[in-house]
Formats: sequence, structure tokens, C-alpha cells
Amino acid sequence: MIKLGFHVSIAGSLPLAVSRAEENGCDTFQIFTRSPRVWAAKPIEPAVAKAFKDALTVSGIGPVVDHMPYLPNPAAEKPEIYARSIFTMTEELDRCDQLKIPYLVTHLGHHGKEDGHKKGQEKVIAAIGQALDESEGETMILLENTANEKNTVGGTFTDVGVIADALSNEKRIGFCFDTCHAAAAGYDLKGHGAETVFGWFNDEAGRLDRLKVIHLNDMKGGVGSHLDRHEHLGLGYLGEETIRDVLTFPKISHCAFIMETPSDEIRTDKDNMAVARRLAVSS
Ligand SMILES: [Zn+2]
Repeated sequence: MIKLGFHVSIAGSLPLAVSRAEENGCDTFQIFTRSPRVWAAKPIEPAVAKAFKDALTVSGIGPVVDHMPYLPNPAAEKPEIYARSIFTMTEELDRCDQLKIPYLVTHLGHHGKEDGHKKGQEKVIAAIGQALDESEGETMILLENTANEKNTVGGTFTDVGVIADALSNEKRIGFCFDTCHAAAAGYDLKGHGAETVFGWFNDEAGRLDRLKVIHLNDMKGGVGSHLDRHEHLGLGYLGEETIRDVLTFPKISHCAFIMETPSDEIRTDKDNMAVARRLAVSS
């Protein structure tokens, strides 16, 4: 059986994320360990970290995935934003170590006009390398593909691969594949199928055994739209058949499948989970 889950809220306190995940029938889940919309993070009290780890052990859920907050940009042109981004990534790795979270997902940022793409890429490599060097523990950084919006770094599989290859600490670098982002970037999962598109990922980004997390999202935009807007499973461009194709592709069955589907009146998380469970059983 593959592992399915959601991005869940930590509102109230970190341990509450575990009960929310349980309520929605998750085998795995993703969180922000702090507010994703501000730079500053309150330290995690040791008692809170212990309560989180205890709740997790009791629940039997795992792995937990942490997602980097929104403000950091590891390709930033402005030196102060770049420095803060490295600080935040290091801090987030330390928080993962404190909570015993094995994976930290990060986007690869946006380069500035003056810097251009190549310099942006070099900055990302240096930023991640420094954060790994300066952090405690063994948490792996997962490089996530993006919708390849303007000035993006990490918008193509090749781009993700160049960054992964340049980072020597291979046991702490893996990948997160977002289905919405891939198709929005132009990799037509619906047209070509999972075997072909993940084959490209394997050849251009890195081996599929280093792929640890799938962000399982349908999409509001179409192929090559560069639109990072997620949709409920089966209700977007990808549709149920493509979601099924991804869920049943054997070479990625070791991954944690995390849904980042919208919160609205159309569908609850429980309903998306029911759809995912139904599609995960190959027909
Ligand atoms: Zn992401």
C-alpha cells in the first residue's frame, strides 16, 4: 500500500497536526513548523517537541514532511534576502532535527534580473550546501520542481538535476515531485503518462530512488500554463485517469504522496482522500 496524506495545519500547537492527520485518515503528512508568511520563527519548546514526537509514535503515522516557508529565496539577488534565506533554511533543518522530521521540501527560488539564471543556480547550490553544513542532524533536503514561472530556478528537470549533482552530500539531498507543477511547466503527464514523464525525471533530475515525496495535486491551469494553482483530485486538467496513473506507477510506490488540494466547499480533505484511495487501487 502506498502512503497517502495531506499538508495539515499546526494551528493551536504542533502536536495538533498529528490529530488532524489522523482525523483525515493520513498515513503520512506535511506541515510548516511555523508560520510560513513571516521570517521570524519562535523556537520550539522542548515539551512541545516531545509531545509532537510522542503523538506521532502513538499514531503510527510517518514519514512527516516539513515544507520551507514562503519568504526565503535561495537564489535571491539582494544580499540581505539571500543571507536570511540561508539562515532560515539552516534553522528549518535544525527544527526538523528537533522534531525528528526526515524531509524538508524546498523550492529553488527566483533569480534576479542582474544575476540571470546561471548565477541564480550557483547561489542555490551554495545556499543549500551552507545550510547542510551548518545544521544539526540528518534531515534530507528535497528539491521540488516548480511550474517554471518567469525567472524561476528549478523549473525544469535538468535544472533540478544540475543543482542536485553539484551538491556533494548525496545522502542529504533528494527530490519532491509536484504533479501540478510538472504539467504546468510543460511536462505533459496526461498526454505522455507517468512512465514517460518520470523516466525523463530519472534521466534529467536524478534517480527515482532519491525521490521521496510526491505532491499529488490536480491543476487549474493546463500543460505549459506555468500556473501554480492546485485543484481537487480528478477535477482539474489532469483528471482521474492521470492521478490513477501516478498513484499506481510502481517505480514511485516507495514515496509519500502528499495532497496539497484546496480548502473550499467543493470538497473536504476526507473526500479527496477517498478519491485517492479509490484510484490507488490499480484497475
Ligand atoms: Zn512546494
